[in-house]
Amino acid sequence: MTSETAPVPGELIVIAGAGGFIGGHLVARLRADGHTRIRGVDIKPFDEWYQRFDDVENVRLDLQAREACEQACAGAFGVFNLAADMGGMGFIETHKTECMLSVLINTHMLMAARDAGVRRYFFSSSACVYAADRQTSAAVTPLKESDAYPAMPEDGYGWEKLFGERLCRHFREDFGLETRMARYHNVYGPYGTYDGGREKAPAAICRKVIQAVLFDRPEIEIWGDGEQTRSFTYIDDCVEGTLRIARSDVQEPLNLGSDELVTINQLVDLVEQIAGITLNRRYKLDAPKGVRGRNSDNTLITARLGWAPSTSLARGLRATYDWILREMTARHRTAVPR
Ligand code: NAD
Repeated sequence: MTSETAPVPGELIVIAGAGGFIGGHLVARLRADGHTRIRGVDIKPFDEWYQRFDDVENVRLDLQAREACEQACAGAFGVFNLAADMGGMGFIETHKTECMLSVLINTHMLMAARDAGVRRYFFSSSACVYAADRQTSAAVTPLKESDAYPAMPEDGYGWEKLFGERLCRHFREDFGLETRMARYHNVYGPYGTYDGGREKAPAAICRKVIQAVLFDRPEIEIWGDGEQTRSFTYIDDCVEGTLRIARSDVQEPLNLGSDELVTINQLVDLVEQIAGITLNRRYKLDAPKGVRGRNSDNTLITARLGWAPSTSLARGLRATYDWILREMTARHRTAVPR
């Protein structure tokens, strides 16, 4: 990165979606790195932000509106746009319009960033941009960046992300806004959604296993036949990769995902091991399942950045499980007074 685009700790960095899972961790990391001017923006009430810091300028705005984006981007050196109406498979398969309406956030944020003279703009895309016909087998060939075309992404959410990527590219080509993009693959970790319908598989499985432990019900419901494959990216790797990509000179979207492939059954095995329990598995075959198999090909990120995610699933799940257990135990205690 050149000295013109490297943010110095005193420059204003804006995180859109700061009340969310990844946004909250990104704010925490930037603070830890010594950044003193951070603006976190989210539509959610402050008490619903996963992480909130008093020394950060926290602002509540609906970033679907252009004026709100102008307010968010004013004076910014760098912008991380992580705001989106999204969730796990249970959400994105049943809320396609909501997912697609995030194009308003992406469009208005890019217009506002351009008009505010922002130097670096990061967009969080997704592995859901990859063509579905490349993900029909559990024995997957890892997805490389060029596999996104010819395009046939995940209905709704995937199209929104692919359109967002293209918009970033054109804002760079036409207006000189330095955009950077990562395609996140199934990010998990503490301080994220684990219930309510927007949660993803690792958090959902941790929650179900913890429920089995807390309520002494040795059974677990698994969506699909459990043989679908995925890779899961630990939040620390996601944040590290986000910063590396944002500060790099790589203008094309890069995969940001673990390449440790597991079946959902193996994911359940790992969580059971952490909990020290074995559960009866009930397979819900008509539940939303997403694609049959997906893994990240990390050849390009390794070649361009000399780095790729490396946290093992076992290690990341342990931290995630411990956090969800603490949260649920606290809730359980309040809900069931002794
Ligand atoms: P999240 O839902 O926890 O965070 C997104 C945040 O955006 C939420 O806090 C939400 O309130 C906010 N938001 C939604 N609409 C808004 C609006 N109109 N104005 C302002 N804020 C708004 O999700 P996350 O897991 O932290 O994901 C962050 C980004 O990464 C998203 O763009 C998501 O699509 C992308 N992504 C995440 C994953 C993953 O596995 N978590 C995978 C691929 C891509």
